[in-house]
Amino acid sequence: MSRRGIPGVGRPIRAYWRHRLGWVAAGVLAMAAQASAQHEVPMTPSDLVLEAQSISVARLLSAQSRWNAKRTLIVTDYRFRIEQTLLDGGIGGFEFVVTQGGGTIGNEGQDMTSNPRLRVGERYVVFLDPDRGEVFPPFVGGSQGIYRVDTNGVAIALSGNDRLMLSDLVSEVQSLLALRGNDPPLRVHRADPQSLRPMPSKTYSPAGAGGTVAGSRKPTAEDAPDIETPIPGEPLSPEANDAAEPSQDHVSTPDAPAWHVARLSNRPIVWDQWPEDWWVGHVDQAMMIKWNRIVDDLNLVSNSQLDTWAWQNDRFEMVGWPTNQMMIDQFGEGWGASTLAVAWRRWSGSVILEVDIAFNPAYCWTLDEFVSATQAGSCWGVRQTALHELGHGWGLDHPWEFYSVWVDSVMNYAPKQFRLPMLHADDTAAARTSFPGTASTNLDGLVSMYRTADDSASMQASYTGAFSSSTSITHGSSLALGGFNIENPGRTTFSNPKVEIYLAHAWRDWSEPYIYLRTATFGTTLAPVATIVHTPGGTTIPSTVPVGRYYPALYLRLTGDEDTENNSAFSSPNVQLTVNNVPATLAPIEAWRTWSLGRVGPSGIWRLNLPVVAGRTYELSLCNALGGGTASFDTLMSVVGVISNDDYCGLQSRIQFTSASTTMRTVEVRGYNNTAQGTFTLAYRQVVTDRIFKHGFEAD
Ligand SMILES: [Zn+2]
Repeated sequence: MSRRGIPGVGRPIRAYWRHRLGWVAAGVLAMAAQASAQHEVPMTPSDLVLEAQSISVARLLSAQSRWNAKRTLIVTDYRFRIEQTLLDGGIGGFEFVVTQGGGTIGNEGQDMTSNPRLRVGERYVVFLDPDRGEVFPPFVGGSQGIYRVDTNGVAIALSGNDRLMLSDLVSEVQSLLALRGNDPPLRVHRADPQSLRPMPSKTYSPAGAGGTVAGSRKPTAEDAPDIETPIPGEPLSPEANDAAEPSQDHVSTPDAPAWHVARLSNRPIVWDQWPEDWWVGHVDQAMMIKWNRIVDDLNLVSNSQLDTWAWQNDRFEMVGWPTNQMMIDQFGEGWGASTLAVAWRRWSGSVILEVDIAFNPAYCWTLDEFVSATQAGSCWGVRQTALHELGHGWGLDHPWEFYSVWVDSVMNYAPKQFRLPMLHADDTAAARTSFPGTASTNLDGLVSMYRTADDSASMQASYTGAFSSSTSITHGSSLALGGFNIENPGRTTFSNPKVEIYLAHAWRDWSEPYIYLRTATFGTTLAPVATIVHTPGGTTIPSTVPVGRYYPALYLRLTGDEDTENNSAFSSPNVQLTVNNVPATLAPIEAWRTWSLGRVGPSGIWRLNLPVVAGRTYELSLCNALGGGTASFDTLMSVVGVISNDDYCGLQSRIQFTSASTTMRTVEVRGYNNTAQGTFTLAYRQVVTDRIFKHGFEAD
């Protein structure tokens, strides 16, 4: 289906939509591959149709703020006049009123970062959530379930995730509704409050916490030892004689920063941090430190850290994972069904007075970045989410709510596999500009293993991996990486960035083995805030690279870089390069011969061709005592389709077999498991057991 009037739309989301309906019909539901959202579980457009109570094109007539019944939260009633009913759902054909948290009464303003901003007088396409209350967004999937229609007839999802012509959206909704028939709303993307897993939270106590903070200190980052480290370290500097191949392909730097700030918290912000004996203890402080590298003492933590929390107590609180009951006690309503995390903000004039940050315990949360960056995984990253919400904490908004952005940002809704706990150039520019004259990282470069670009089908940037899908390559072939972002999040211009290209055994971890391939040097200059997409030329995989599976990785080597945590970039967790050898062909004779040198890396398979003749017997050995074979590791050897052996002499292998046919066989040598790696020399021979038969056979 076309998107008339929107040039350059390439995302096959419409086709996906129809595809997904097929899944629904088959009773199989899965998460969308590319959908993304920070505050809500991602949904596809078809999810919106299938899970909505009512769908209409409607104009927002008024927005009236009031206190909720418990007088604990400002909420706003939004009155819509229906222009076109797509699905009535009992709403009626004229007007409806929905409510969500946030609003302004007198000098006091409040917002919830999960909730979309609505403007009186605008037209919207509204997918009403059947379980809506008056705290979280009343739309399916939060901001994903409401599209603003601009004066050109373009409908833009307030999540920033989707943009298309209204007429196309309406006709697609209608065709999906025809398929849905009279079915009630599906309740798929709904956390079950009964299944809440035990996540830590402060206790809700409106009386227990309040007033001034008794002392503060700088945050400290001490990850518990069993936590996956988010800091990859750095590879050893390669030898100077490695040739650098110039290559460049640069895209423009942004005309202007994309960030948006409406009001600020006073610096320093003193947070009631997570108690340090929680399993996530110190992780919030580690994320505060990332912001503090840009703005000195932007975030401090309290010396009087409290075990209780409440909204409207004038404190900045890292609440943790409050239970549904705590939410009801505080706000009169439980968690939004698909809400992942939220920051409540309260201000007077242009000064933010209070921020509370909470995560929904109904979802899976992890400190293992490998898990959270796994695209198909259902767990969410604690660090990146905390870093995002702490951005809201000092006043940063979502840039894509205000501009169509193409640069990267911790405030973007990046696809899961590109969501790392890292501040980008746009974020640091926002903080530096908002809090001028404070200490800040001076020289800093950042590299990603993906590129961002403008996406005319959304307000968000598109994300494309530089090495985007698992593939295989043979020795001597050229590895083609796509473009990747280099950013300047610092305050000092740098030029001619050098990016080292590696194959790494472990994901985001230079303490495990890695192989240096080459350095790509780009003839560009990056001023502060700049993001440039660089595309390197091909990189030949030499035959000395052990066969196996690797993460292609980059390291931006920048002399004097003050923050090297963002100088490493790896392919996504589920995307690896398999290196294969070019199989040599063995020529067995009656005497032992040896073939060397095989190199087996992680999960690698070294292959050799073995021509065999029917009726003849062959022997292959990695055992020293048998023909002079060797192997430095625990081997498995097989003749594919015929025979295999694990341990014959110690941990090494040996095979003898009589061939049933005359053909070319493949010999495979691999490690017993993916950590069994090393080099080998194969000894092989043809075993003569029956001279008479052999002569007779040859006489044929
Ligand atoms: Zn946000």
